[in-house]
Formats: sequence, structure tokens, C-alpha cells
Amino acid sequence: MTTQSRSLRLADCLSRAPFAWPGGYPLYAITNDGAALCRHCCHAERLSIATTTGDDGWNVVAQAVNWEDPDLLCDHCGSRIESAYAEG
Ligand SMILES: [Zn+2]
Repeated sequence: MTTQSRSLRLADCLSRAPFAWPGGYPLYAITNDGAALCRHCCHAERLSIATTTGDDGWNVVAQAVNWEDPDLLCDHCGSRIESAYAEG
């Protein structure tokens, strides 16, 4: 599997199913440079993700649940990524 197809697969998976099941915990994407991407950016920036060079900030390598970080922000759009347990 290429970097691009893996990256796109993870992003598509996240924009289609942004909450972990079971439990409904909010998911976000992690890029290879350690940035967080919210589900909205995974959808809106699909083309960038699909054509990542691998080190341009759009290489999605994993998805994760935001358990309790109330200050976790998307590194692209700056919006807050919901957390499972933190207030607000
Ligand atoms: Zn975002």
C-alpha cells in the first residue's frame, strides 16, 4: 500500500465514521509529523491527503481517540477536537 492510499484510507475512514464504536468516542487523525487533524479537515483536505508527498504535513498515519484533552486543537483549522471525558 502506498503512503498516499494509506493516508487517504485513514482520512476517509475518519470522515465517514468520526466516532469510535462502541462508545462514541471522538476520533481525530494523526500525521507523520505529529500534528492532529480534525474530521472536518480530513474531509475538506481530502485531495491534499490523497496526494501527500509523505512529509508535507498531510501524511495521515493513524487515528486516535481524544480521551480527555480539553485543549486539543486541529493543527490545520484550529478548531477544538472534542474529547471523550473532558468538560466542554
Ligand atoms: Zn481541522
